[in-house]
Amino acid sequence: MSLTVVCWSCTSVCARHRHARSAGSRSRKPLGGCKPMLTLRQLLKQAAVSPIYRGWNFKGIECFGDRAWQSLPTLTSPKLRSDDASAGPDMLFHTSGTTGGPKLVRYSVEDLGRVAELCARFARLEGVGRDSRVMVLLPMGLWTVGRITVDGHRRAGAQVFPVDLHGGVAAWQHMAEQIRPTVISSTPSVLSAWALHYRGPRLELIETTGETLLHEERHRIEAAFGAFVYDAYGLSECVVGSECAVRDGYHYWPDATGVEVLHPDCDQPVPEGEEGELVLTSFMQTRMPMLRYRSGDIGRVERAQCACGSAQSRVHLSGRIATSLNLPRAVKLDVNQLTQLLQELEPGLRFRYKDMPGRPSAPHLAGAFRPTIEIVGRLVRSRKRIEHRLWSALPELAELVHEGVVDLHWIERSTRQHAASANL
Ligand SMILES: [Zn+2]
Repeated sequence: MSLTVVCWSCTSVCARHRHARSAGSRSRKPLGGCKPMLTLRQLLKQAAVSPIYRGWNFKGIECFGDRAWQSLPTLTSPKLRSDDASAGPDMLFHTSGTTGGPKLVRYSVEDLGRVAELCARFARLEGVGRDSRVMVLLPMGLWTVGRITVDGHRRAGAQVFPVDLHGGVAAWQHMAEQIRPTVISSTPSVLSAWALHYRGPRLELIETTGETLLHEERHRIEAAFGAFVYDAYGLSECVVGSECAVRDGYHYWPDATGVEVLHPDCDQPVPEGEEGELVLTSFMQTRMPMLRYRSGDIGRVERAQCACGSAQSRVHLSGRIATSLNLPRAVKLDVNQLTQLLQELEPGLRFRYKDMPGRPSAPHLAGAFRPTIEIVGRLVRSRKRIEHRLWSALPELAELVHEGVVDLHWIERSTRQHAASANL
């Protein structure tokens, strides 16, 4: 007798990896080609010999998130520099340097294989498979994203065409006409720069990754390329999850990435479902283990079933932790002041800030973009009236916006959308 079960390795979302297993079998090996991630025990064993975790006490931990786990400290970005650089062999990649400049992150070949397997799950979730032709338009050198995106899509069975960013828009368009992709995978800033000049071919979907995707960018890219955008969320230090067709948060796989939501200023969890700092644990990396890594991103975890039918948890992102925004002309904008002001003017208004694209994603495009503040929410008062109050309270910001040095976008939502989108 046999029964069909969902692969324990890639969990319930990976419907393509259903496979038969003998009833009563004790084997927990994935049978459909899925590569298993690390067990907690394997991860802790690696962390115990890493200089990054010197002084951490791993005794008594039985499972991710238990009481002993929660008594561990958290890992911050500067601590990664205490890694032993002499050990090897490994592969080195830069982070994008969103916080405190680029850092080196080390991976073994096996680590990259596990991360690529997670990216394959993203591709399957989006419906990318054997019939897909994927043009990966990402840096292929010192940034992990290009390599794992290529490897992940190959694992998902797609035909993959890695294209580096050299040559700019004219070269990308020429390559697209030769490759005839059904999917293009790139960063929001690269696709935004290409959007004005895109002449086909017709696509099935677009994947964005590697940097914040503003709503305005999503709309611009979808209009120009004629396909829905599926965004992925992750850091060079730890890849997290991907949007499904509903595009309401990032589904993640707990066997690959552990997500905790903690108070930004202490190691305590926030109440279930509330916003806090996303703290990540990777079950993919041994060379430079990532345990309880403070992402610097504000968000929450939603465990309710998604409209796509999956019961798999989702991460909703709100923005970055910052006390001030460093705007051009050395203007520092107090985040608390702007947040409070928006709440006074229109309760529920949220903002996100995106600086110019970081170095790895599009160095030669930096001149084509301006720092952008995106304000999202439901407006009862007129936008002009709110802007008038904003400019009175923040004259330096008013000057930057009026002179075209900083872009300001308003994303107005209906009451219904607003209620359903606590991720904004
Ligand atoms: Zn979903």
